[in-house]
Amino acid sequence: MDMKIIKSEKRMCTCCMEEHEVKTVLVKEKATFKNIKVDYEASYLYCDIAEEVYMDEKQMQENDIRLKDAYREKEGLLTSKQIRDIRVKYNISQSDLCVLLGWGAKTITRYESHQVQDKAHDTILKKIDQDPEWFLSLLNDAKSNLSIESYQKYLQAATSLYEEDRDIYLRKAIEASYAKFQENKMFNGNQSLSLDKVVDVIRYFAASLNVTKLYKVKLMKLMWYADVLSYKMRGFAITGLVYQALPMGAVPIGHNSIIDLKDVPCEEVDMGETYAYHFALTGKQSFLSLSDEDKKILDIVIEKLGKMSKNDIINFMHRERAYIETTPRDIIEFKYAENLQI
Ligand SMILES: [Zn+2]
Repeated sequence: MDMKIIKSEKRMCTCCMEEHEVKTVLVKEKATFKNIKVDYEASYLYCDIAEEVYMDEKQMQENDIRLKDAYREKEGLLTSKQIRDIRVKYNISQSDLCVLLGWGAKTITRYESHQVQDKAHDTILKKIDQDPEWFLSLLNDAKSNLSIESYQKYLQAATSLYEEDRDIYLRKAIEASYAKFQENKMFNGNQSLSLDKVVDVIRYFAASLNVTKLYKVKLMKLMWYADVLSYKMRGFAITGLVYQALPMGAVPIGHNSIIDLKDVPCEEVDMGETYAYHFALTGKQSFLSLSDEDKKILDIVIEKLGKMSKNDIINFMHRERAYIETTPRDIIEFKYAENLQI
């Protein structure tokens, strides 16, 4: 017999009724379940004296699950572990997930072990896995049937999954809008777009004590100065952003989406008729995507422009040759970096 030994320990052997080293082994088995032939590995104990394999109660249950999981895999259904992983991801109990889905109280518990779920339930579980927004709507519907603590716990887990999903979607959308600029070094400053660096540059400015009143217009200018200064000093920009000439100065393409990215410390401030976007970050921070050279360049920008008011910085930008020579709404090219005022 083809056996793989995975453990050996001295114990009472219930095969020969003696105490000796008993091996735990894996054996390749074939079985038929619901008319489907499946291969799986079953776990047994092995008695060297009787030269026989046998199983205890726990192994019988485990082997049954291994058989069912082999069947599930073959049929494209979620395995018991995958179902458990979905539930763990949402930090939800077996019975409360049943409450959300309107299923019998023990359904998930059984699916996480020996009972194979039907195709319809399998589809629902896969949808839950991929769609935290749907989970949130189910959670909202089931709110009155859950304890407040449980509801809060699930809400937090699902919200954070939702935000991660949203961030992936947002990043893809920004990257798609930048695809057409990839080849033009004068547009992107000889740098391919790095949204990790974009987020960290914003965080770096927001965390600096030498940057005052950091609202969106000022932030966009600081980012442009950082990229152009980097290009002037090193021949490549930091972020790979492409900037447009708008009335108040340089603004990166996709600016509204950029400030929505996860980890951008942006706060909406109610100004009566409109909202302002304020950027601030307190406490000790690290900026993993930025090199020491990147940070030195950001420090120069902060030193020269960090304390300027919004209007000061707009006026300063308006005197840039890059701005003067660019037609309104056109892309500001990096070729003017030599003439940068800082
Ligand atoms: Zn034995």
